Order: sequence, then structure tokens, then C-alpha cells
Amino acid sequence: MSRSQQNLFEAAQLPENPEPWELAAEGDRVAAAVVFPRPLETIYHYLVPDSLRELLAPGQRVKAPFGRGDRGTIGFCVGVGPVPDTSRKLKEIAEVLDREPLLDERMLELTRWIAEHYLCGWGQVLDSVIPAGVKKGAGTRVVNYFELAPDARDRFDELDLPAKQRAVLAALVASRAPLDAEELTRAADCGTGPIAALRKRGLIRAVRKRTVAFTPDEAAIEIVPDLRLNPEQRLALDRILELMRGREHRTVLLHGVTGSGKTEIYIQAIREVVAYGRQAIVLVPEISLTPQTIRRFRARFDSVAVLHSHLTDAERHWHWQRIARGEVSVIVGARSAVFAPAPHLGLIVIDEEHETSFKQDNVPRYHAREVARKRAEMERVPLVLGSATPTLESWLRVERKEDVLVELPYRVERRPLPPVIVVDTRHDPSIARREALGRVLTSAMRAALADDGQIILFLNLRGYAPVLWCRTCESPVKCPHCDVSLVWHRDRQAVLCHSCEFEVSRPRECLKCGTPGLKFLGTGTQRLEQEVRLKFPDAACLRMDSDSMKQRGSHDKALEAFRRGEVRILLGTQMIAKGLDFPNVTLVGVVDADTILHQPDLRAAERTFQLISQVAGRTGRSARGGRVFVQTTSPGEPCIQLAAKHDFLRFAERELAHRLEGGAPPFVHLARVILRHREEPPLKEAARAMAETLRAVAKELELPVKVLGPAPAPVAKLKDQYRYHLQLSAVDLAAIQRLWRESARRLREITVEYVVDIDPVNMR
Ligand code: ADP
Ligand code: ZN
Repeated sequence: MSRSQQNLFEAAQLPENPEPWELAAEGDRVAAAVVFPRPLETIYHYLVPDSLRELLAPGQRVKAPFGRGDRGTIGFCVGVGPVPDTSRKLKEIAEVLDREPLLDERMLELTRWIAEHYLCGWGQVLDSVIPAGVKKGAGTRVVNYFELAPDARDRFDELDLPAKQRAVLAALVASRAPLDAEELTRAADCGTGPIAALRKRGLIRAVRKRTVAFTPDEAAIEIVPDLRLNPEQRLALDRILELMRGREHRTVLLHGVTGSGKTEIYIQAIREVVAYGRQAIVLVPEISLTPQTIRRFRARFDSVAVLHSHLTDAERHWHWQRIARGEVSVIVGARSAVFAPAPHLGLIVIDEEHETSFKQDNVPRYHAREVARKRAEMERVPLVLGSATPTLESWLRVERKEDVLVELPYRVERRPLPPVIVVDTRHDPSIARREALGRVLTSAMRAALADDGQIILFLNLRGYAPVLWCRTCESPVKCPHCDVSLVWHRDRQAVLCHSCEFEVSRPRECLKCGTPGLKFLGTGTQRLEQEVRLKFPDAACLRMDSDSMKQRGSHDKALEAFRRGEVRILLGTQMIAKGLDFPNVTLVGVVDADTILHQPDLRAAERTFQLISQVAGRTGRSARGGRVFVQTTSPGEPCIQLAAKHDFLRFAERELAHRLEGGAPPFVHLARVILRHREEPPLKEAARAMAETLRAVAKELELPVKVLGPAPAPVAKLKDQYRYHLQLSAVDLAAIQRLWRESARRLREITVEYVVDIDPVNMR
């Protein structure tokens, strides 16, 4: 194996925590370990020229020659130390790009773990983890700060200075730190004239500093006291606090039904962390980062940073710096907030841990829960996972006593969970007429409206009709670039591919065979909206999906209108299934529970169970109570039946037994390799060769890894690329990781593009 092929750990022969300047005696040469943002496992060594020695530390970016003829490629310095023993002549670092490290040693260690665990390049992880705004130094300005000249105090008493100038001097004496012009003119209540005059006299001088100029426009919010916990909450919190005080890492699974008051427990646990001057990170799904959620945290803590996807580069940079300086107590954000550079982390919380959006769908394909677990372990702090419907992965860890289970079996104030009525739509006359709302659901809606209640309808398909049926092909019309059906969007008078950008105005004939007269089948949210307006012309109705909520802020506006009661029927996709807390919602309808159930995904039953439970969680949150109707053509499915009974335990038991029997996760780890190419025959051949190689290496090394496939992926074509996949499975993930590394050299013959996805959640 050549040097460049060695894995991460062998190649990095640097001390664990390099103390470079001690190790390198005067005159000794110093080397830097550098990784590049490429799919490479290698760590490269470079000489650090004397001129850069004082400027370079791990965590900074450098430019270094990479490959023949290259003068400078950007990479990350991950270590500095004595020159390793090697016969090769090392090249020199060309440039140091950052003044200060962008990440500290612990974050370097964490990113290295991610690279090793998820089988990608360390440099790729670093590149993805450090926000673009931080790398660019977005919003950075050089600002003049003013301070007293060293001898000023001795001189200014003797001088006869105007009052304004004296005020400026007094302000600087009072402030121990230098002030910028704005702070100074405010403190001295003057213009900039006196400052200029004092500079001329040599009594004050300017120091130049770089800062991120940004003032957040966050309305001040009144801090409200913590709620009095009920006895179950008290017990749960005490258990968590006990673990926190132990200063050992533990993962706690907080399994609490919807509306049981989990957030209040997070808040009060964080309270303790903040009291000790430490920071807490709270991860929530991106769609739950609503003003309602944000307000809940802002109203309890003085300094909360919210990291959402709409931040500009400068805003992100500003937050990052404040967090790194320890100025923020609570960081609330989606998946990537797990990398917030909090210097004294005390706790990590993941709300709705079952949400699939915690897994990143491109390199590095990390799961925030697993990264959080690793980070919490390294920092020896607890990780709290909260959910009404935990993943079976988390549940199994609890059953095996690897994690601690804390339960909240009741809703706050012992409000009952809503009754869930499963409606068999197979013989419903309305459904037979291709309507989406069956008879039972329609009359329940009528009753709820008559009773002044509000309604939420959930449907997982956006657009008007998900299928354009061609009579001649006897199949749905597909995207010319992808192996997925086109969806009719009536509002745009066009058909769209939901997997790529493809869009054409209303086709009159089949795109493939040219037969005219396509049929629009099935129901998306747009058609549902039309049906609701037709059946309930007097009830204000609002559709929420990614088409209707494109504008920034529209999401919040819509929810506010619903809260105020201006909207009576809210219908939409996932967007409305999670986290909403509206007391007046007395009816929730799941329009089609079959959409997820019938997907080719090993977790289809689990997702269906989660969905029904979460949607049911949106009602019955006040004394008014509420009901849930679930329309399905598979009313006997255990996942639907058990969700209707709110019986997570039985569901978990059944589903785990099922998975164990099938040798599926969480009893095994999977890795999915997806290969893609513009032409199918070479792709198929490459996939076959890869499978063969992996099987051969597994056999040679006696690694207990099963290699399944190759087969065309469920979405066999995407954006003009054909897709094949292989599946590796093993009880021990290390076996898969080893197999992949050991096969790396032989897999270099594979010329088509491929990616590996560890513990995949997206099986398309
Ligand atoms: P979950 O996250 O478990 O679904 P929430 O944290 O949203 O539940 O709590 C549901 C509702 O109950 C919220 O409106 C919350 O303010 C309220 N709540 C939580 N704890 C208490 C308490 N101890 N006393 C009164 N109300 C509470
Ligand atoms: Zn497409």
C-alpha cells in the first residue's frame, strides 16, 4: 500500500495533541499536517517555512501545492509538529489563510471521527462544517477603536481642554477597553469633532481591529418565569439533572407523548447548565424552527442564538464568533447546529429525534444524533433525545441499557390523547368518485366547523395530481430526466418533476408515445384545497406546502392567521404535521395514510406510525378535546392500528421482532453504495464489479459483512444519470468500515461515480 493509500490514522503520525512550539527546538524544522476538501483519506505533510511558523496553528486554512505543477490548493491544517521520518522530500506550505483557528482541537477531533465513521475525507467534513460566511470572513470590517495614549493621563490635567474633549477622555478612563467611534460619541454625548481634535493633540490614539459588523433585528422579548413542573415532569428532570451532575456522558431518551411538556424539561435542564456558565445546544427539525419555538427559548434565556437556514453569511459569521467567545448560552438550530463552536458545552438536546432531516443527504452524510452522541461523549456531558415516537435505533439502545429511558406517559394536566378513528376508504362512495375526502371525514369536518372548532388536514403530496396517466403506455408519464412520475401543478399550469428542475407547460399528449388525452389521477394538496373550498365554501381555508410558502415569512404569517382563527381549515404537507400547538384544533384528518406505507422502504411502517402519532398530537391540546380521522385502504395494518391506540410500546415490540427476523436495522448496520452514470450498461458492469470486489475482500479478510446487489435503485434514474445500488450489512459497523477501506485500492478501477451512505435513512 502506497503512502497515499494509508488510512487516516496510520498516515497521521503526529502526537495526539501537538504542542508544536515546545516539541520543535530552535532551528528544528516544523511540519504541518494538511487535509484537502476531497474524497481522500490521506493526511499530507508539508514543511512550514520559518516566515509562517508563528502564523500557523491547527484549525487554520492554508494554501499548499497539491499534485504536480500545482502552486496552491486550499486545505486545512490539522496538526503541527516535528518533521515526520520520511524519505520523501516535503514541499512547503505556500500561504496561511486565516489569522486564527476556525475550529479548536476538540472540533478537529470530532470532524476526524466523522470522516472515519462515515467514510469520507476529513477535509470534506471540515469544509462542510465551517460555514461559508466564516471562511469568507463575511461582514468583517476593520474598525478604529480609540484608547488613551500611554502618557495622556499625565498631560491632560494640565491642559485647558474644551468640555466635550474632557468628556471623551473621561469616557475612555471609565471604560477599561478601547471604544469604537460610535460607542465613544454615545458615552461622551458628542460628535466626532472632539475625537479628531484629541487625536491631533496626541492624547488618544486609534487601534485597528477586525470585527463582524452586524446588529440582529431581534425584538426585545420579555423574560417569563419557568413553569411549575407536574410530578412526572419533576421526576424526569431530576433524573436528567442527576446524570448531568455526574459529569459523565449519558444519553437519555425522553419518551413523552405529544403534549406531555418535554420542552419545559429541556428548558429547565438547560437552566442548570447556564447557571454553571456553560452552554447548551438544542437541535430541532428545520421545519420546527418557527417563531413559536424560537419565542419559547428567547422568553426564558438572555442570550439565545438561533441558527436557521435563512441567515446571511454575515449573520452566520457573527453568531459563530459570539458562540465561540462563549457569549451565547443557548444555541437553537437545525442539524448543522451540532457543530456550533460552544467553548464550554454542558448539554445537547435533540427534539423530535426521529425526524429524518437530522441525517444529511450529501457528503458528509452524517446523522446529527450520532455526531451529538460523539460530541457529548468527548465533552463528558449528557445528550437528551426527545420524542413521542422514538426511532427503533434509539429504542433498542434503551432496551439494551446502553441509554437511559425517562418517560412522560401523560399529557400535561392529564388531558387525554385524542381518539383516533381509522376509516376504511375501500368502499366509500365519495372516494369511488375520485374525491379525496370520504363520507365519514367530510361529516366530521362539518360537525367540527358547526362547533366552532378548527381543522387540520394532512396530505403528503404537493401539486394537483401526482399521476398523468397515458392510456396507450398504460403507465404514468415520467420525467424525461428521472425515473419518477411528473406531477400536475394546476396553479402554474405545468407539470413538474419533484426530483429535478424539469417543468413543461400542460402537455396535451404523452411525452413518450404522443397519445393525446392524458388523465390526471390522484390527489395532491392543490386538488384537496379545491375540494375543501367546494365542499365548505364558507370556511376560510389555507394550504401550506413548499409551493404556497415560498416567500420568506409566509410560513409564520399563515400560522398566525390560523392561530387568530381567521383560517378555519389548514391543509398541507409535512410542514403542518409537526410541533404545532393550537388549542382550538378539534379535528385532524390524515387524508391518505397509504402514501408512506406503500413505499419501498424498510422503515415504511415506522414512518407511518410516526406520522399518525405526530399528526394526532396536533389536536386535543385544550379542554375542548379533539378527534383524529385516518383514511386508508389498509385499515388492518398493525402500524395504523397501534398508532390509533397510541401504543408505541406494542408497536416497537412488534416491529423490532420483525426487523430481527429480517436481519434489518437496528439489529444490523447498513451501508448503501449508490453508483451513477449517464449510460446504463457500463454502470451495471461497474456495480457488478464493485459487488464482486467487496465480496472477495470480505471473504479474504473473513469480515462478517453481507453484500447485497447490485440492483437498480428504486429511483433508477435521476437528473439524466442511471442509478444502481449495493447494500452492505453487518452487526458491527466496524466490519463495514474496514471492508470499505481495505477495498479502496481495488475499487480504484471503478470509473463511474459512486457514494457510500452509512446507516442510510433515504432509500430511494
Ligand atoms: P411536547 O413537546 O411534549 O409535545 P410541549 O412541551 O409542547 O409538549 O407542552 C405542551 C403544552 O403544555 C405547552 O403549551 C406547554 O407550555 C404546556 N406545559 C408544559 N409543562 C407545563 C406545566 N408544568 N404546567 C402547565 N403547562 C405546561
Ligand atoms: Zn426530473
